[in-house]
Amino acid sequence: MSSDEEVRVRECLRAGLCPICHQGPYKVVASHTLKAHKVTGAMLRDMAGLTKSATICSAEASAERRKLTQELMAKGVLTVPAGSQGGKRTFSAAGLAAQKRKAEHMKALNRAKRQST
Ligand SMILES: [Zn+2]
Repeated sequence: MSSDEEVRVRECLRAGLCPICHQGPYKVVASHTLKAHKVTGAMLRDMAGLTKSATICSAEASAERRKLTQELMAKGVLTVPAGSQGGKRTFSAAGLAAQKRKAEHMKALNRAKRQST
């Protein structure tokens, strides 16, 4: 379920516009919101009802970052993609909801399996 506010924030992010002051477009909106409003990318994703892995920068900035990660992995500087270094995972509200849906789906599958044997 998305609130009107989440939909509005997502539309701003998709257009590269700051959802707080409506300036832009920016390639990386989160860089602007952090500097100008002290709002991090994680906070923006929460405001938009997105998961922590959702892309909120432009396709161009995302492609540049992906290319850089691949180069660093090829050189052996990075062994796993940035942002997946392990440890305890944390989730945004949208991420928690997705995890809950997955768990419920698996429970239903296991229940069906038990009943068929
Ligand atoms: Zn702004």
